[in-house]
Amino acid sequence: MPIVTNKELLVKAKAGHYAVPAFNTNNLEYIQAILQAASELHSPVILEAAKSEVDYMGGHTFVGIVRSIVADLSIPVGIHLDHGPSYDEAIRAIHYGFKSVMYDGSLLPLDENIANTKAVVKAAHACGVTVEGEIGVIGQAANSPEGAKHDMIGIADPVQCERFVKETGIDCLAAGIGNAHGIYKKKPELHFDVLADIEKRVGGIPLVLHGGTGIPEEDLRKAITMGVSKINFGTVMRKAFIEQLAIDIKGPMDWELMALLTPAKNKMIETAKNHIRMVMSNGKA
Ligand SMILES: [Zn+2]
Repeated sequence: MPIVTNKELLVKAKAGHYAVPAFNTNNLEYIQAILQAASELHSPVILEAAKSEVDYMGGHTFVGIVRSIVADLSIPVGIHLDHGPSYDEAIRAIHYGFKSVMYDGSLLPLDENIANTKAVVKAAHACGVTVEGEIGVIGQAANSPEGAKHDMIGIADPVQCERFVKETGIDCLAAGIGNAHGIYKKKPELHFDVLADIEKRVGGIPLVLHGGTGIPEEDLRKAITMGVSKINFGTVMRKAFIEQLAIDIKGPMDWELMALLTPAKNKMIETAKNHIRMVMSNGKA
């Protein structure tokens, strides 16, 4: 199947009362694991990469590998720039073949965030690429490649969200509601009252929840019933991969790299499948 835009995936998800999982991607093993898990569970899926991940893999390499694998699959797949830090990075991602980009101006004053996001939307839409915007600062629970290194956990102002969506023309909105990237130090408290108010004001565009790692399943599902249609998982996959590698690297070493990487990749397949089931996208491809 061809690569599709996030808008196409998320509008369908919203109508079907499930969310599409978006997994951050670091290397070949990730791409294989995510696509195998989604294919076996007949789930739509988004492979996303933040700037540091794009730089590490190479944008053309990342998109090229995903496209070559997806050509043989029968599930819809999105390729998305996570937390694009500038107009230039967003344009570069479109040039690589990403079908969806996020522009993250959430640390800027609102007027500047609106002006920059609007410029990205205009260029992206001209290329058939859809855009995710951010408002309200999604904080940082621990170091991770997504987002800036700051400790703020911001709660978006629903009135500002309404203005942001109306003036920028974005296709989906990531709003901070108490969620954060990395490993939560205590149980995350999602502000569902804020989410309900945002959903009411933004004219039905799909909402995105970042920092999915560690949010209890019942909270993820409640958020989905309230309009969240894309949930980002980054840390949980890194953790699965690295923890398994750490176990196997302590065992007898026969200098066979594939034998070392295979259990770690299998751990990511299992982890991706668990999260696909959590967001109820299995069987929805
Ligand atoms: Zn994020």
